[in-house]
Formats: sequence, structure tokens, C-alpha cells
Amino acid sequence: MSKQDDLDKVAKQIVDDKVTPELAAGATQLVFGVGNPDADIVFIGEAPGKNEDLKGEPFVGAAGKFLDEMLAMIDLKREDIYITNIVKYRPPNNRDPHPDEKQAFLPYLQSQLEVIQPKIIVTLGRHSMNCFLPDLQISKVHGQPKRVKLHLKEDKSDTFEVVILPLFHPAAALYNGDMRQPLIDDFALLPVVLEKITKS
Ligand code: URA
Repeated sequence: MSKQDDLDKVAKQIVDDKVTPELAAGATQLVFGVGNPDADIVFIGEAPGKNEDLKGEPFVGAAGKFLDEMLAMIDLKREDIYITNIVKYRPPNNRDPHPDEKQAFLPYLQSQLEVIQPKIIVTLGRHSMNCFLPDLQISKVHGQPKRVKLHLKEDKSDTFEVVILPLFHPAAALYNGDMRQPLIDDFALLPVVLEKITKS
């Protein structure tokens, strides 16, 4: 079985388990995640928006275009990374995902990460960061890599170490000029952080 087969199984499980049935009913489709299942870097956003809901892929709208520009800046393409969201159905009118919705998807996100085993998780925005680093404020810690132990099973029997790099959300940076340059500067750290981890 390939990693992609394992990821397909997790996606099917979300549908079979009827996770967040109200969100599912209002969405066009599940937006599970795309990219390279062998990637060292996984990007995690918040939830699909309108374009993502229609296409079935994360970050294909304006925020995605900005993300692609920043990836190009560090010589990466979508095929080099894996990209997903915490919540995998579009919330109505693009409202923020509710805490119970984020919680409902967490075990499936953990399964996705267990398959991919990335070296770095780049969290995009505070919702994503707070899944892994619940007590931190993004305005204070953006761009600061944090080494964490992830528990993959609810009984905490299975763990792996990973570096979280918290970044501002590209959509927020598009609408708030003050975040744009800090996000670009933080993004430029990614190859440096990856090289450090690979060497250590
Ligand atoms: N914003 C997100 O957090 N995720 C997407 O997929 C698109 C926009």
C-alpha cells in the first residue's frame, strides 16, 4: 500500500464516519488535501472557502495564489509539499470554524500526519497554530519554529516529533498590509529551518 492509498483511506473514513454532517450538507465536496505524500513540509490552513469547495482542493483562490508566489520565492512548487486544512468542509459563508468542528476533524488530521510523517508543519493562521500550540499568540510567535511531540493516538501511545512553524494566514496578509511583509520574511525562513532539521 502506498502513502497515497493510506491517505485515500483516511478521506473515505471522514465520509463514512459522517464527520460534521451539517457542514457536509452545505458543502459541494470534501476538501481533503493535495500534494506530495512524501513531503517534508505540510501546510495546514483553516477551512476551505468558496473556490476550494468548488474545486475540491485547498488554497486555490486568492490566498492560494499568494501562497504559490511565496513558495516560488523559496524554489518550491505545490508538488514538493502537502497542503490541507483543519476543517475539511466549507463553513457556510466562510465563517470561522467552530471549536467542535475543529475538534471533530482533529483525529483525521492526525491520521493524515501519521501517514506523511513530515519534518515541518507550517500552520497558516491562528486556528491552525492553536491546534498544536493552544496557548500561544500568533502575533507573538509567528516565524519562530517550535519543536513539539505529536500524539497520534488518543491514548497517547504513538508519538512523533515535528517542528511547527507558525505563520500568518495568507488571506489575512492580503487584507492587512501590516502582515504582508512579516509573512514573506517568515516564509523565507522555511528552507533554513528545514536544513537545520535535516542536518541535526
Ligand atoms: N483559506 C484556508 O484556510 N484554506 C483554504 O483552503 C483556502 C483559504
